[in-house]
Formats: sequence, structure tokens, C-alpha cells
Amino acid sequence: MQSSVAERRPQSFERVLSSMCTEPHPAARRAAERFLATNPGDPATYATIAALEREAVAGLAEVTGLTGVVADADPESLAAHGYVTSGGTESNVQAVRSARDRADTGASGDPVVVAPESAHFSFHKAASVLGVELRTVPTDADGRADVDAAAAALDGDAVLLVGVAGTTEYGRVDPIPALADLAVDAGVPLHVDAAWGGFHLPFSDHDWGFAVDGVDTVTVDPHKVGRAAVPAGGLLARDRGALDALAIDTPYLETASQASLTGTRSGAGVASAAAAMEELWRDGYRAEYERASDVAEWLAGELHGRGLRVVDPELPLVAFDLPDATFEAVRERGWRLSRTGADEARIVVMPHVSRASLTAFLEDVDDLL
Ligand SMILES: *Cc1c(COP(=O)(O)O)cnc(C)c1O
Repeated sequence: MQSSVAERRPQSFERVLSSMCTEPHPAARRAAERFLATNPGDPATYATIAALEREAVAGLAEVTGLTGVVADADPESLAAHGYVTSGGTESNVQAVRSARDRADTGASGDPVVVAPESAHFSFHKAASVLGVELRTVPTDADGRADVDAAAAALDGDAVLLVGVAGTTEYGRVDPIPALADLAVDAGVPLHVDAAWGGFHLPFSDHDWGFAVDGVDTVTVDPHKVGRAAVPAGGLLARDRGALDALAIDTPYLETASQASLTGTRSGAGVASAAAAMEELWRDGYRAEYERASDVAEWLAGELHGRGLRVVDPELPLVAFDLPDATFEAVRERGWRLSRTGADEARIVVMPHVSRASLTAFLEDVDDLL
């Protein structure tokens, strides 16, 4: 017989190597618990969580560089430029929806979204739900969006170009400035998906966020590297018009309109995102970026030293060839490991993934190889 729910416990993160979720920061966990019974979808009734959402959006605006481009960047005015979503999927769906609905309707066929083939599968969901065509274009040999291929795919039906800053499979950062130039020339907005990479990139040399002219909207997930509790995603927009395009009238709530896709939504995620950023922006996130990058470099060297082919890490995510039998055997020893579409094993160096846990993993690999 199954034990009761009260007797069961979640998994330990000790052997979780491929997930983009992690142990929330203790302050984020406590905030999530305190705000469990709140609904930021109805901000006039739930005013405290609504204020925390404005603070969370202001935090995300700092992370993505939006604060530098919005003249009057206090939390009240920034609130019109973004909201805390349920995750990267909702953010991407909403970015596509906003672009579709803001586009001139002179298009001859279905509206088209052009994205590199490395784009997250949430764009396929967006296309399916929104009746747009997702036109994926090849990446270069290194896994980054091919700018010429994207240029060739942009025609009169295009309503949005997508760039990824930290791909889910390889942690690659697309050439965002070149994609932004292209988008401006083609007269379409550029959406940057930094769901995973967004909390690492401010400390890297990459140009990726609103500091790049032509970047219109950005996805960034507090519930991944941001160390908030699930669910906490973020959608940010340079112009408030991108959010206005999403607003729907809400007759029976105390507030007159709503831009989120979900109705009732988690105040736990919102409070937890605000708490995590209060604790960790900027120094805590910088320290984690540096720690994780060092661990990824070290891991890549260790794997390479064992004669395994490694995809050179750009952000703290390491993909490498592992024989099928070894892959299955390490999984049987409890390691949670997944593969890329090209069958490499992939380790995301999240905050819970340490040199000590990876040393134990490598011992198992040595034992099995
Ligand atoms: C994880 C991820 C998503 C999806 O985010 P969810 O929070 O899982 O919905 C979208 N894009 C990228 C690049 C991601 O890594």
C-alpha cells in the first residue's frame, strides 16, 4: 500500500545533474510558504503580493538591463513593463502572442515566428496554441543561431525573431546584437529567451539584454538560476505597449485588466522571486556564476581527460559523449542525467551541483567505463 502524502518526501538534489531547477534559497523558500494563499492575479484584493510583484519586476529589470533604458525606472512604472509568469513557457507564449497581435495585418499567410532550431520546445507550443508558423533555421557548427539563415527566413509574414541567450541543450548564447540589427532592418521585434541563462549573463562578456538596441522582450526565469521556488518566470518588455497588447478586461475582479496568461496564479512564486533577488542580486548571483563556471571548466577537463568528447562549455552546462551502456548504468545508480537531441549526456551545473557531487559521479563513470 502507498504511504500517505504526509509521510512522503521530495527527491534529494544530490544526484540531480540535468535539471534546470534547484534547491530554492532559504529566504525564497520561506517567502513562498508565507505567501501560499495569495493571488497576484487579483492585485487590488491581494495588495501585499501585488507590491512584491512590482519589486520582483524591478529586480528582473535590473538583471535584464531594462532599468538602464526606461527613463522613470521606479517599481510602479516598471510594473507596466513586465510580470512574474509561471515560467519560461508562459513567457515565451506571451511574447509570441504580443508580437502577433502588434504586427501589421498585411501578411498573406499565417504569421511567422523565425527562431533558431536550438529554441526551446515552448515555442512549438506557442505556435500550436496561437496559430502562427514557427520557422526554425539552422544553427552554426557551434550551436549558435546562424544570422544569414535567419535573414533568409524573414519575409513579409514574419512577426517576430527569436534569439536564445543560453540554450537549453548546450548553454549557447546566440549573437544577439547581430540578430537585433536584423530584426530592426526587417521591422520585426526581437525576443530574447534567457530563461536559464539570464541570471548568469550579467556577469559574462555577452551582449544579450535590453542594453542591445532592438531587443523588444526578454524571458528570464527566477525559478532556475534565480533560486526562487517554482513557479516563478519572468517576461519583460522594453515598451509598455508589448504588455498592453496582452491585457484583457476582467469584469469580476477588483482590478480592471490582466496581462498574464493564467488567471489565479501563485503568490508563492512571486514572493519567492522577490526574496531571492533581494538576497542574491548582484553579489550572490555573481559568486554563483563564478563558482559554476569554474566547476563546468573543471568537469569538462576531467571528462576530456577520460577520452570523452566534450562540447566546450560557454555557460555552466557541459554536454559530452557517454557510451549508451554507461549512460544507462549511471542512471541505474541514481544519477538523474538526460541527453541532448544529438544523444550527448548533459550536466547543468546548477547551485546544488558541486565539485564533490561530480567527483562521486566521475568515480561511478570510471567504475563503469
Ligand atoms: C527552461 C527553459 C524554458 C522553459 O521554461 P519553463 O520554466 O520550464 O516553462 C524556455 N526557454 C529556455 C531557454 C529554457 O531553458
